[in-house]
Amino acid sequence: AAQEGFDPEEVEGAIGEAGHGPLPVLAVVGRPNVGKSTLVNRIIGRREAVVQDKPGVTRDRVSYEAEWAGRRFKVVDTGGWEQDVLGLDASVAAQAEYAIETADAVVFVVDATVGATDTDEAVVKLLRRAGKPVVLCANKVDGQSGEADAASLWSLGLGEPHPVSSLHGRGTGDMLDAVLEALPEAPAQTFGTTVGGPRRIALIGRPNVGKSSLLNKVAGEDRVVVNALAGTTRDPVDELIQLGGITWKFIDTAGIRRRVHLQEGADYYASLRTAAAVEKAEVAVILIDASESISVQDQRIITMAVESGRAVVVAFNKWDTLDEERRYYLEREIETELGQIAWAPRVNVSAVTGRHMEKLVPAIETAIEGWETRIPTGRLNAFLGEIVASHPHPVRGGKQPRILFGTQAGTKPPRFVLFASGFLEHGYRRFVERRLREEFGFEGTPLHISVRVRE
Ligand code: GDP
Ligand code: GDP
Repeated sequence: AAQEGFDPEEVEGAIGEAGHGPLPVLAVVGRPNVGKSTLVNRIIGRREAVVQDKPGVTRDRVSYEAEWAGRRFKVVDTGGWEQDVLGLDASVAAQAEYAIETADAVVFVVDATVGATDTDEAVVKLLRRAGKPVVLCANKVDGQSGEADAASLWSLGLGEPHPVSSLHGRGTGDMLDAVLEALPEAPAQTFGTTVGGPRRIALIGRPNVGKSSLLNKVAGEDRVVVNALAGTTRDPVDELIQLGGITWKFIDTAGIRRRVHLQEGADYYASLRTAAAVEKAEVAVILIDASESISVQDQRIITMAVESGRAVVVAFNKWDTLDEERRYYLEREIETELGQIAWAPRVNVSAVTGRHMEKLVPAIETAIEGWETRIPTGRLNAFLGEIVASHPHPVRGGKQPRILFGTQAGTKPPRFVLFASGFLEHGYRRFVERRLREEFGFEGTPLHISVRVRE
């Protein structure tokens, strides 16, 4: 009865949208200045600012949701590299490596006004070895006269060059049609839907927080390297590690063990690598150095894990070094700085002494449980009914918006759709989320709540 006023098809549609599974991933790669960011902006419909970043400025986000011809996918922007520090070829190769690891298809952007360079040729080799579908974008073809330049890119051996002007939009539609043909319906890494198999953990955190020490402590001698990445690197990537009597798959341990001491420019590369690991994982264990103040870089990593919708555990490391005063200030910092993951289980560990290592597994299990929780529709609506009765939305402009009906459209992480008779204010949504957590737990998981308003 609470559904009154809603067309069942509309409800279905909204649930389908909010409950979509993982999206296929499209990576946009190419040399600096060929127009990757401009193209990404064009693809995502300028809903998010990308291009105004100065070259080389570290970005927090690398992936955006996009839609074309009714199909949704993720676009990964690999622009913004510190080319001077990493070296041009290194940075472009690193992008390609990232694309290979994470993407289901690749758009390779070439500046048609320049033609194919040696760096372009080198990337083509990497891409070909990876065996992912590639769509060739001949960019900066702003008019008819550029078509010949585009045609000359047939020589790259990647099939038809699609002449595009990312700046003006010319040709992007045709190119996106080709992208949709190249993209699978569902990503190769079907996150939650894998039946059986070890759970996937990404151990993340800024440099020197103790990731490598922790990994060595928990892994001991009996680790099994399970996946040598084909193509750009011979490093072992994922390892099976026994922890608390359970086998877990730790993602990209090569990235953890390899201690690249490049200067500043390595940051963006490290953050891409972290993003790739998080995308492949089910749970992110975020390591924070408890002996130091929580930093902007810590926050960035947390945001990355939360936005990618993974289960999250926070581990404060180097606990052995803390005196009473630092512990006091840390508590205050956690209150003021870590509000966005107040729901995540916390463990205070020491990779050196082994303190509280045994608490890691229960925390991870709690987070996965929250992440996979499904609330039956009946129970959810009984709960929503109570909220509406006890804490109605404030009256605005003589009207009182009301939640009419809700349903959980998906899990991993839990996604809810609320149908309402009017716009629900931000504060009220926050309140509903807080109450949902109080009632149903959801420890260690982000929650997605979308609201549909009956016009
Ligand atoms: P990125 O380094 O590959 O991300 O390149 P950007 O997107 O930052 O673009 C580099 C420069 O090329 C900018 O000045 C853009 O305005 C310009 N640009 C990008 N796409 C086009 C295009 O289709 N036509 C023209 N004429 N310029 C473009
Ligand atoms: P990563 O860059 O995150 O992999 O960090 P490392 O594992 O290389 O650790 C960085 C430094 O912190 C090393 O000197 C470690 O010995 C030290 N370290 C790591 N964990 C702890 C800990 O729990 N206690 C103390 N006192 N030092 C630690």
